[in-house]
Formats: sequence, C-alpha cells, structure tokens
Amino acid sequence: MLTSERPVFGLYRLLWSGLDYIYPPACGGCGKRGKRWCDDCNDASKRITPPMCIRCGRPLSNSAEICDRCKTDPPAFIALRSWAIYCGSIRRAIHQLKYRRDIALGEVLAKGLIDILDSTMWDIDIVAPIPLGKKRHKERGYNQAALLAFPLAIAKGLPYKNNALQRVQETTSQVHLSREERARNVKNAFRADSKIVAGHNIIIVDDVTTTGATMQACALALIDAGANCVYGLTLARAG
Ligand SMILES: [Zn+2]
Ligand SMILES: [Zn+2]
Repeated sequence: MLTSERPVFGLYRLLWSGLDYIYPPACGGCGKRGKRWCDDCNDASKRITPPMCIRCGRPLSNSAEICDRCKTDPPAFIALRSWAIYCGSIRRAIHQLKYRRDIALGEVLAKGLIDILDSTMWDIDIVAPIPLGKKRHKERGYNQAALLAFPLAIAKGLPYKNNALQRVQETTSQVHLSREERARNVKNAFRADSKIVAGHNIIIVDDVTTTGATMQACALALIDAGANCVYGLTLARAG
C-alpha cells in the first residue's frame, strides 16, 4: 500500500516490534498469540465505505451527499470519518486499549487512521487527541485517544499537540444517553488553547464516536479559540 509515512514512524514501529519480540503479544481482537492485531480481525472489521454523509461520515443507504441531520444542523467540523463499525473485534480491541491497559494496541490500530487520512485531501496543520477529564485521566493513567493520535502525527510528520484541547468539565458516561442528552452532556465541556490553535487546521482524534456530540463540542471550542477549521477522525463508529 502506498502511504506517505515518515521514516521516523518506521523507527517508532520498530521500537514496538522490539517489545513484541521480548513480550510476545496476543491479538487485542481475538486473543490469538503472535500479533497485537491479527490479519483475521483486521479483515473481519466492518469498514465504513461510501455511501456516507460527506460531513458527519454517517453511513447512508443512498447516495445523498449530505445527510438530513447535517443539512438542517450543520456540524462545526468540516468532516468526520471513522475506520470501522464499532462491533466485533475492533470493539474488543478498543475495550482492551481503553480499560485493560493494552496500550501497545494504539500504534497498530492507528494504521486504520493513517489509511483514512491518506485517502482524503484534508489540509492539516495540527493533530490533537480528545482529552479526558483530569479525574478520569488520573484513574486510567493514560488517554486512549492520545495513544492513537500520537502515532498518526509522527506517521504524517504533523505537530502533535496534547494540550490543544482541555476538558474543563468532567462528564458522566454517555453510554445510555440519547443524541440530545449527549449534546447537552458535553456542551461547554471543552476549552481550546488559542496560543496553539489560532489560525490552524486541526484534526481531532478519538477512539469511538457515537452521535458526534463530543466531536461537535471540541470543534466548537477550537473554532471559538480561533482555529481555522476542524476535522475529526475516530477508529470506530457506534450506532
Ligand atoms: Zn485477532
Ligand atoms: Zn451528516
């Protein structure tokens, strides 16, 4: 596959491969020994391909370019794309990455994000992860979105800005909330640093999107801080 990955990303991958040699991994999707993410799980993942809404990336059953929701209420981001539907192996792998401290999965799953970015014409200056709140970050010890965003940034030779966004309000779990409740839950939950983002084109990275409410809240905060435009990328899309 032709990609424009930087040589430094080769070194980064080599480092993780060295660790695999010392500690042989198990697949985050199926548990099979040998690779962190096996070919079977990769091939079985339900990739999101057109037709989809060109703005929010929602799969569509027809070839309408913009979904009704984005027509009536356009999102603050230019476009949001996700690699696969949140089910099966990728769901299990994200669970491992997020809750089971399987942090080595970040580098290997970021490949999906790199492939999507390579397929777009997006003009990006800065890569930023969607942050966790301080409390949750402390409990988990790491931000799973950062584990995806960092390898993406070094693969594409783009500046990685961990502090571009801050979560200023701790939000409750969104699992059982409706679209409207999610939007309300994350509204004003983020703040962006204008010293970092003003005048720039930002791509924000997360593990999963459901209704796009978190992406929307982050995009609004970034634009409020003077960002030129915002794109979103997630590994999976639920719902
Ligand atoms: Zn597997
Ligand atoms: Zn849409």
